[in-house]
Amino acid sequence: MRRINHWIGGRIVEGGGRRGPVFDPALGAQTAEVDLADESEVDAAVGAALDAAVGWRATSVPRRAEILFKIRELLDASRDRLAAAITAEHGKVLSDALGEVARGIENVEFACGIPHLLKGDYSEQAASAVDVFSIHQPLGVMAGITPFNFPAMVPMWMFATAIACGNAFILKPSEKDPSASMVIAELLAEAGVPDGVFNVVHGDRSAVERLVSHPDLAAVSFVGSTPIARSIYVTGTATGKRVQALGGAKNHMVVLPDAEVEMAADAAVSAAYGSAGERCMAISVVVAVGSVADPLVAAIEARLDKIRIGPGTDPNSEMGPLVTAEHRDKVAAYLDVAADEGAVVRRDGRESTFEGDGFFLGLSLVDRVKPGSRLHREEIFGPVLSVIRVESYEQAVELIDEHEFGNGCAIYTRDGGAARRFQFDVQCGMVGINVPIPVPVSYYSFGGWKASLFGDSHMYGPDGIHFSTRTKVVTQRWPDPATSTIDLGFPQNR
Ligand code: NAD
Repeated sequence: MRRINHWIGGRIVEGGGRRGPVFDPALGAQTAEVDLADESEVDAAVGAALDAAVGWRATSVPRRAEILFKIRELLDASRDRLAAAITAEHGKVLSDALGEVARGIENVEFACGIPHLLKGDYSEQAASAVDVFSIHQPLGVMAGITPFNFPAMVPMWMFATAIACGNAFILKPSEKDPSASMVIAELLAEAGVPDGVFNVVHGDRSAVERLVSHPDLAAVSFVGSTPIARSIYVTGTATGKRVQALGGAKNHMVVLPDAEVEMAADAAVSAAYGSAGERCMAISVVVAVGSVADPLVAAIEARLDKIRIGPGTDPNSEMGPLVTAEHRDKVAAYLDVAADEGAVVRRDGRESTFEGDGFFLGLSLVDRVKPGSRLHREEIFGPVLSVIRVESYEQAVELIDEHEFGNGCAIYTRDGGAARRFQFDVQCGMVGINVPIPVPVSYYSFGGWKASLFGDSHMYGPDGIHFSTRTKVVTQRWPDPATSTIDLGFPQNR
């Protein structure tokens, strides 16, 4: 059985303890086992990162940029290899995996501009013969804990800005699909990242708990489910760390009566079922306003038979399996919840049949979901699309605003005024106007509101630079010693 080990101090390090299974979801078979770090293995990674951080922060910023350009080049040349690693363990189709890699590389491209991004401010003559300037310095050792659904992109959201700013970084990827992180580690080493600046520690809850409470760690970036995001934020901040913890989502797509129905149906189907609904920006609730409901639901349903479900490696497949059998069963159980709650199950994905033991589930469409029901409140994270019918724009916005999560949302309309109003009103971190999955480009930042993010920094882009550095302000003068006197008064600048 293939073993997936840690990457510490620039080399592969075998774990000495527990291991976890890694599956190919399309086959439903175990293909590897991954080390699950104990405390001593986490401590070894922190030790290696601490040692490396000293030299890395002293490395010139243009040299760091040069290495980032090289990382970008190697990642670009390794798109297929990374996508294959993602599909083999996550299950998403290869074209989707390639899309993930492409969006991740954009974060490295952003970080290549680090000489510009780290420029501080300078104020000459802030007082007589006194100048004031600010500098942005790295924090030290940062850690990133990532979810299963983007095993390459989310690590790239985090490490690109972290190391560009001069920090050492420890990645704890999802134990469900750990191989992509090892490809990244290899490429970073080849690009010239010094040993110990980038480390990968595999593991589960115990590795995370050690990392998050480790006294020598300066900051933690987390992406995953809300209960764990919340607890990481609490533990991390209680032990003095900077924490950004991104959690779960329930993304609504509002369709106004004037929307172009066929276009809205295409968008809803693409955004709900792409990657089998295992995206934190997936549309999981369509909010149909007024008269658009009947034609829209019919148009969505008519599209479902055409979606080809199969192994991610088959170029004909548009949607792959779910990540594990347990997750597939959890998602499927929501169809019973829907029926119990009085919603109308128009398509039940459990009725689709598949050859072999893969973790496949068909597409589900549930109409007339009640606001506030479990189907509406809870994150399902699978190929189940709910439709809520409302009478007005105001009711649609209220549904979003009252929801626990506030990650992404979208509106479909041809009315610019309504769209502008929505953008202004809605309580949600990322808004799409006729764009169903509004993941910000790398030079903005990604983050939800409410229980979709704990902390005050969004991820990557300008917020990523801010999160990865602390600011020092220097006040200086070069007086003539002959003018020196004692003055117990508070310094004045006028
Ligand atoms: P998860 O919360 O189960 O796991 C995330 C990470 O936490 C993994 O590295 C995992 O090993 C670790 N972990 C798991 N259980 C833990 C525990 N008890 N204590 C400490 N650490 C633990 O999430 P997942 O199932 O891998 O990913 C899906 C979730 O991630 C969904 O809720 C999705 O919405 C969310 N997500 C959010 C965003 C975002 O940007 N907001 C992006 C992607 C995914």
